[in-house]
Amino acid sequence: MDFQFNDEQRMAIDAARRFAAEKLAPAAAEHDEKAEVNLKALKELGELGYLGMTVPEEYGGSDMGAVAYAGAMVEFSKADAGVAVGVSVQNSLVNDAILHFGTEKQKKEYLPKLASGEWIGCFSLTEAGAGSDPASMKTTALRDGDGFVLNGTKNFTTNGGIADVIIVFTRYAEKGNSAFLLKKDASGFSVGKHENKMGIRSSSTTEMVFTGCRLPSDAVLGEEGKGLKVALATLDGGRIGIAGQAVGIAEAALDESLRYSKERVQFGKPISEFEVLQFMLADMATDVELAKTMLFKVAWMKDSGQKRFTKESAMLKLFASEMAHRVCHKAVQIHGGYGFMKDYKVERLYRDQRITEIYEGTSEIQRFVIARSILGA
Ligand SMILES: Cc1cc2nc3c(=O)[nH]c(=O)nc-3n(C[C@H](O)[C@H](O)[C@H](O)COP(=O)(O)OP(=O)(O)OC[C@H]3O[C@@H](n4cnc5c(N)ncnc54)[C@H](O)[C@@H]3O)c2cc1C
Repeated sequence: MDFQFNDEQRMAIDAARRFAAEKLAPAAAEHDEKAEVNLKALKELGELGYLGMTVPEEYGGSDMGAVAYAGAMVEFSKADAGVAVGVSVQNSLVNDAILHFGTEKQKKEYLPKLASGEWIGCFSLTEAGAGSDPASMKTTALRDGDGFVLNGTKNFTTNGGIADVIIVFTRYAEKGNSAFLLKKDASGFSVGKHENKMGIRSSSTTEMVFTGCRLPSDAVLGEEGKGLKVALATLDGGRIGIAGQAVGIAEAALDESLRYSKERVQFGKPISEFEVLQFMLADMATDVELAKTMLFKVAWMKDSGQKRFTKESAMLKLFASEMAHRVCHKAVQIHGGYGFMKDYKVERLYRDQRITEIYEGTSEIQRFVIARSILGA
């Protein structure tokens, strides 16, 4: 076993840390307050190769791998978890879906522009009546001549308002569910409601509306009628990104708590000298360390070519997101009343953390996936 990063991984993660400190952290509170996407930063991350981290060089990617990607996600999330989820969706949900299920033509057309950040992508699975149960989706794709016509509304799509490329999942009458790949200028497609959120406010979350949206037959992504296979296999990798986001948020909350507890004086001494707080900090640090170890293990499984790691990625996402909840809760407690104020970063971290327990499968769904796997059901 080798617990060291190689030189390339170390360089990618160190450069991500510098980018986060210089370009994300100074603007994060303002983007959160105004609910504005930091599109400039996302585009720069594309130019630096962070939007094509698992895309091979032949398709214009930087091919840094899943371990480097997981480490970069931690660094970006420490500074701005909203930007980080944009990076995660592009790498794990859009690029990986095209890479593993796209035709050669689709890979050549889409991946170079996505990997460079020229195009931003999104992954539109959820609907108002189909969240944890995506198979109950109602958006339809019906054959029309040699193409398809899509009708329906998707909701809660990350990157929706800034997306040039959309992966959308539909029902296709008797042929099951199909995934489609389209550009934002497809006729009959529009962006719907922009959500006003509790956290990750610097990310775009929107409805995606399909009204008689006409697509050619080569817009199908993966096998026709096997769209849910595309969605579920892709989400295995997506959970690495969300776990990285949770670890980053938690690590930032721990850093803030260590600093604050040494500065804040009550009863004539820094509050870090109270054993109760020392134990809280020790538990937080242990929690972060454990989740980080799981994160890099599952990323390593992906890099070493394992096709499915459903159980492990579900365990990772479950543990990392609930860990971030525990850590952010303690971080606010350590800050006392100041932790409740927007002047202090832990207030934003506490709100940003919450989504990691919900999207790309709630904690309940992760437990369901794990239980099914260990029971052999
Ligand atoms: C900010 C944000 C960004 C998002 N980004 C995207 C995106 O980019 N693309 C996309 O497709 N979706 C996205 N989503 C949607 C997200 O994945 C769903 O919200 C999530 O899967 C839960 O679905 P739901 O909200 O409909 O909740 P529901 O499925 O209605 O769940 C409600 C509650 O019931 C529980 N529950 C449901 N079924 C079961 C069961 N069988 N057993 C036990 N408990 C159960 C759930 O765990 C939850 O506690 C996003 C959501 C948000 C909030």
